[in-house]
Amino acid sequence: MEREFVEWLVRQVPADPRLEVPAGDDAAVLRPPASRRTVVTVDMLMEGVDFVLGPDCPPEAVGHKSLAVSLSDLAAMNARPEAVVVAVALPSRGGESLGRRIHAGLAALAARHDVAIAGGDTNAWDGPLVVSVTAIGSVPPGRAWRRDGARVGDRLLVTGACGGSLLGRHLAVVPRCREAAEIAGRFDVHAAIDVSDGLSLDVARLMAASGTAAVLDLAAIPIHPDAVTMSRQAGDSRSPLEHALGDGEDFELVLAMAPEVAAAAVAASGTGALDVPLTIIGDVIEGCGLFVRDPDGALAPLAPRGFLHALEG
Ligand SMILES: [Mg+2]
Repeated sequence: MEREFVEWLVRQVPADPRLEVPAGDDAAVLRPPASRRTVVTVDMLMEGVDFVLGPDCPPEAVGHKSLAVSLSDLAAMNARPEAVVVAVALPSRGGESLGRRIHAGLAALAARHDVAIAGGDTNAWDGPLVVSVTAIGSVPPGRAWRRDGARVGDRLLVTGACGGSLLGRHLAVVPRCREAAEIAGRFDVHAAIDVSDGLSLDVARLMAASGTAAVLDLAAIPIHPDAVTMSRQAGDSRSPLEHALGDGEDFELVLAMAPEVAAAAVAASGTGALDVPLTIIGDVIEGCGLFVRDPDGALAPLAPRGFLHALEG
């Protein structure tokens, strides 16, 4: 099945001026945009860890998510998506129809974000489905948002709202690519990260990279309605705020900006000028770790929570 399937895939991929040699050769040749740096990121999604195929998660959703998480990483770097290559390990049984449907989900999102599909690799085995997407983006020299740029005195902002992604947003991921471009075009961002593993955990990572600490304003954390729904489910002992701080897979952006820039960005957000909601959730201070402020004003440590991949041995 493999050769026919690969030939089918190659026929599906639209021509793109960024591809000097498109998919179907031993390797693709890209025309890099003039005067921009190349940004590369890779993600691997595994059945049983990142998704469970079933009525709530058709193969198209896996294709969508596989590309969306990589696009989110590009957005977190202020990079414009340009091209992707895709590697898929398909289960031998039913693999070909699975592959076609994964491609359909991935290609629809690629078209929406004007990403060229530059190639890939398809294998079959007696194991679970694994999809790996390498995304290639571009950014003007010196304009990439990094994790290590937050400064003491900066304010921390988050796009959208967090928590409860397991109710569906963990699959229907909306990468904040356009929002990142809009924000970067108008405001100076010192540091950024996307929320993949948990808002508090990813803010802690941003602060660790910057050699700074953060004070989070828990009353200001934007809580997604899904977090409220989840906390009301039978057997759920976590508050909506705890879901917002620790669930992960929100794929929102956390940004560090100078206070006056943050205020201007928040004022512009949710208007025609800047569609995406932006909320100030805390401040960058000296030190390391995360803190919250007691009612009496004293700082108390906050343990970051989120998803960590388990490695044993
Ligand atoms: Mg990331």
